[in-house]
Amino acid sequence: MILRMSSLFLRTLREDPADAEVPSHKLLVRAGYIRRTAPGVYTWLPLGLRVLRKVERIVREEMDAIGAQELVFPAILPREPYEATGRWTEYGPNLFRLKDRKGADMLLGPTHEEMFTLVVKDLYSSYKDLPLSIYQIQNKYRDEARPRAGVLRGREFVMKDSYSFDIDDAGLEASYEAHRGAYIKIFDRLGFDYVIVKAMSGAMGGSRSEEFLAIAGNGEDTFVRSAGGYAANVEAVVVPQSAPVDASAVPAAEVVDTPDTPTIDTLVDALNAKHPRTDGRDWTAADTLKNVLVMLVNPDGTREPLAIGVPGDRAIDEKRLGAQVEPAEVVAFEESDFEKNPALAKGYIGPGVLGSENASKIRYLLDPRIAEGSAWVTGADKTGFHVINLVHGRDFTADGTIQAAEVRDGDDAPDGSGPLESARGIEMGHIFQLGRKYADALDLKVLDQNGKLVTVTMGSYGVGVTRAVAAIAEGNHDEFGLVWPREIAPADVHLVATGKDPELFAKAAEIAAELESRGLTVLYDDREKVSPGVKFKDAELIGVPTIAVVGKGLAEGTIEVKDRRSNTRTDIPVADVVDHLVTTVRN
Ligand code: ATP
Ligand code: MG
Repeated sequence: MILRMSSLFLRTLREDPADAEVPSHKLLVRAGYIRRTAPGVYTWLPLGLRVLRKVERIVREEMDAIGAQELVFPAILPREPYEATGRWTEYGPNLFRLKDRKGADMLLGPTHEEMFTLVVKDLYSSYKDLPLSIYQIQNKYRDEARPRAGVLRGREFVMKDSYSFDIDDAGLEASYEAHRGAYIKIFDRLGFDYVIVKAMSGAMGGSRSEEFLAIAGNGEDTFVRSAGGYAANVEAVVVPQSAPVDASAVPAAEVVDTPDTPTIDTLVDALNAKHPRTDGRDWTAADTLKNVLVMLVNPDGTREPLAIGVPGDRAIDEKRLGAQVEPAEVVAFEESDFEKNPALAKGYIGPGVLGSENASKIRYLLDPRIAEGSAWVTGADKTGFHVINLVHGRDFTADGTIQAAEVRDGDDAPDGSGPLESARGIEMGHIFQLGRKYADALDLKVLDQNGKLVTVTMGSYGVGVTRAVAAIAEGNHDEFGLVWPREIAPADVHLVATGKDPELFAKAAEIAAELESRGLTVLYDDREKVSPGVKFKDAELIGVPTIAVVGKGLAEGTIEVKDRRSNTRTDIPVADVVDHLVTTVRN
């Protein structure tokens, strides 16, 4: 195939688009791959679509290779199935909702667990039909709060989503492993530097869930890993419950006067000045129990306060907290919320009033580091006062624990495999053992070997296809433009003809035709009256990894071949150039 620049539907831009912050977004727009249609909604232009299709092809080949079968659902869906699973409400403002002319509620699919479950229920009825894996590569719609970085986080995006259906847990495990293997192949072929991390399994708990994160400094996800092989999205780190400690020697709790100590730092200073410890060491922030109030807003709009107790030297990590309380959203506990609850002495709040059994009635959850028997300094629920030697289990209790405190570099990995180190990444894929949640909600049962109806167990597996294009661009560019990995570049060779002599163009056209006949896709810059400088700039911007220039060298019988990745140039004799290019591309 030959794409002629003289007629290709393409305009490259010299300036970065005003709304673009990350390199992939700037370059994909400038090089004429995508065009913004609305915030988070993009048009794919011919060059972009070629890259997108190549990514899709890789994904499709690897899904087919594990025996998954492709189908495609509509994007516009009825409300009822999503109502049945609770997601019509849970999705909250992220769901694009619409009404048809008769007033029926519909939605644009954000993900399709419901539809897949129902189609299997519709067509299958026996264990003999299973296992089954089916998938689609299709547009998804999410009214993201913060669409970002072009197609990296869009409101319309292409996802490959697959779902496995098994009769039992062992079957689900096997389907999950097959998908995991396919994903490794996909992300290897896409050329990502990636990690597989433990992910949140959401409301279901317990089941296996992993994410594939492309390592990228400006990624939105933070993950931690240890030298011993632990790797988890920071949201999914489960800090073990600290073992109980002996409190028999801890003196009785005592309320102490600590005026003007609304912060941990001021409290620690005041304690050391006025109430020094008896064991010779100083008080530190780690001796204090900090109680943080937040407000949870449920998808139906109802509000519910939550108090979280953490050691005073640790902050609450908003993302970890957010992942724990999903689908509720976390907002600030406002002054007016304090006013409504007179039991709360702002700056001096303690376990004395927190908890569903106590005066404030506010649900109170503790960081798992707060061991049974451990003693703390914390608020005495009276402005200007704290209480020391308050022992967990002896003097106070809570409603449970929560994984919301920050995870810090150097913390021990939960599995004891060494200290944790953090880095950032972009979530490219997610594999997840759903279990029976959707099958239960939508009543997907089949007959087992004994003729008994059993609920099917499911897995759900997603790859962000449009996001992959952006993430690959993010990891494959230089100061001049994009530099695509060969397998997904929009063309195999970018052939540039420069000069005025018609013979040059005739020779270039001949080479293009020969390359085409050898099965290569050629992006051929056949534009007359466009300066060599402009053509070279465009070639660098567009990012086909191999550029061949039919120009000045032709008089000496050579054609210059540039490798964008290694930045090397070689003069190749005209007679050898087609073979040379074919070999280069095929290697
Ligand atoms: P994120 O945490 O980034 O919002 P998610 O966990 O909501 O993603 P999933 O529901 O697991 O996403 O979707 C599967 C895959 O779809 C993700 O791993 C990601 O690659 C891709 N994806 C999700 N949301 C978007 C989006 N808004 N734009 C582009 N790709 C997306
Ligand atoms: Mg995910």
